[in-house]
Amino acid sequence: MSRLVVIGGSDAGIMAALRSRELDPSAEVTVVLADEYPNFSICGLPFYLSGEVADWRTLAHRTREDLVGQGIRLLTRHTASAIDPKSKAVVLSDPSGREIVLPYDSLILATGAKSRRPAYVKGLNLPGLFFLRWMEDGFSLENYVKENAPRSALIVGGGYIGMEMADALTRRGLAVTVVGRSRTVHKSVDAELGRMIESELERHGVAVANGVAVSEITSRGGKLIALGADGFRAEADLVLMATGAEPATELAVTAGIALGRNGAIQVSRRMETSVPDIFAAGDCVETWHRLLWKPLYLPLGTAAHKQGRVAGENAVGGNREYAGSLGTQVVKIFDLAVARTGLRDSEAEAERFSPLTVQTEGWDHKVYYPGAERLFIRVTGDHETGRLLGAQILGHWRSEVAKRIDIFATAIHHGMNVSELVDLDLSYTPPLGSPWDPVQSSVFAWERDQESTRALK
Ligand SMILES: Cc1cc2nc3c(=O)[nH]c(=O)nc-3n(C[C@H](O)[C@H](O)[C@H](O)COP(=O)(O)OP(=O)(O)OC[C@H]3O[C@@H](n4cnc5c(N)ncnc54)[C@H](O)[C@@H]3O)c2cc1C
Repeated sequence: MSRLVVIGGSDAGIMAALRSRELDPSAEVTVVLADEYPNFSICGLPFYLSGEVADWRTLAHRTREDLVGQGIRLLTRHTASAIDPKSKAVVLSDPSGREIVLPYDSLILATGAKSRRPAYVKGLNLPGLFFLRWMEDGFSLENYVKENAPRSALIVGGGYIGMEMADALTRRGLAVTVVGRSRTVHKSVDAELGRMIESELERHGVAVANGVAVSEITSRGGKLIALGADGFRAEADLVLMATGAEPATELAVTAGIALGRNGAIQVSRRMETSVPDIFAAGDCVETWHRLLWKPLYLPLGTAAHKQGRVAGENAVGGNREYAGSLGTQVVKIFDLAVARTGLRDSEAEAERFSPLTVQTEGWDHKVYYPGAERLFIRVTGDHETGRLLGAQILGHWRSEVAKRIDIFATAIHHGMNVSELVDLDLSYTPPLGSPWDPVQSSVFAWERDQESTRALK
């Protein structure tokens, strides 16, 4: 009977544990996690904090009983502090602080990420200032809102968590300001779409300050004050730092495991680390990019699930490779959904493709059927080879934005050319689409521009 120890009880760790038990019911699988919330969807925290999800307990993908029922031994509130690869053992401390040494035959590290605490910002320990990563972070923020009834919030960081939280705190009745360093909010999509997101934020009363690096948070008269470049000053009752995530690799370092991009754990496509019998998956590792054919740091729940499954399979003797990620993602911001997959123009250019990006505006379904909404699609392809490189979509959140970006993601996954999308047999009924889906109409526009680009040469 093999002993598998998994450190981390979130997306990657639980997927690994479930898959290993599925393939080898004789495996003795122990999952160790620092908090009390195995298999909770931290992606759901903004929706709990907005009040849309009434009970935080429902954020569990599976209950503790479900996991134990699958034969997984759970050690909650246990923190791993060191790994000795020679004796094949992990050192843990239990909830009382007592040290335990846990032997393993295979080990999977799924320690995830932690909120980035930018070193250039002073005052990050002030009361009323929050980060959002763990369930407990969510509870602290929720308790603060309940107990102190703040009227205003400043969100530092305009990424997807900043966007979701601007929506959430507005729903809770706070006056929200988002401040970020980039030219437009949500810089993982192009500025053309970023500006549309800003209009949506402003339509809901959110103030946006772009191009500002906050350097200090101070406290005066019960208010938090953020100071930044060019005399920026903003006051609020609550500050949320949403400045990104960085891999949690302290434990991996104790085993001498090699780190790579952004300090994340280097892994093979079988999710093996540089140390024998130690695998790793999720936000603590580099992610293989399917289109660029090299690793990047792309911390997303989607990749964590898949990598965890691969690691779990290989840790009990399997031989599966992670197929790679395209950074496919979607976010809901008030009434909008915004999604992307693959590469944007600037990213493709940096990787020496010859990108052409074309934006189209259409309807999500036939206009004669009530409720049609505008849909904006940006397609990026290589104008020399015709290869599909990426896409971005913005539309009403009920306009199937997510599923439409998934068409592009699937096409890129299979190395399709832009033009080949017009041959796909996509579904149609007037309340939901058109005979030529907007995805395909966007391809026609791209082909026209590609022809003109060629004609100009
Ligand atoms: C607010 C928010 C919203 C998000 N929304 C989305 C979304 O909509 N879509 C999407 O794809 N992704 C989203 N993400 C990202 C997604 O949640 C992460 O990619 C995913 O949780 C990563 O899973 P993981 O298992 O690698 O690590 P984590 O979820 O970071 O979990 C790490 C685990 O390791 C444990 N651990 C760490 N160190 C130790 C130690 N030394 N000893 C014991 N246990 C340890 C922790 O307790 C935890 O159980 C969101 C993230 C946040 C914070």
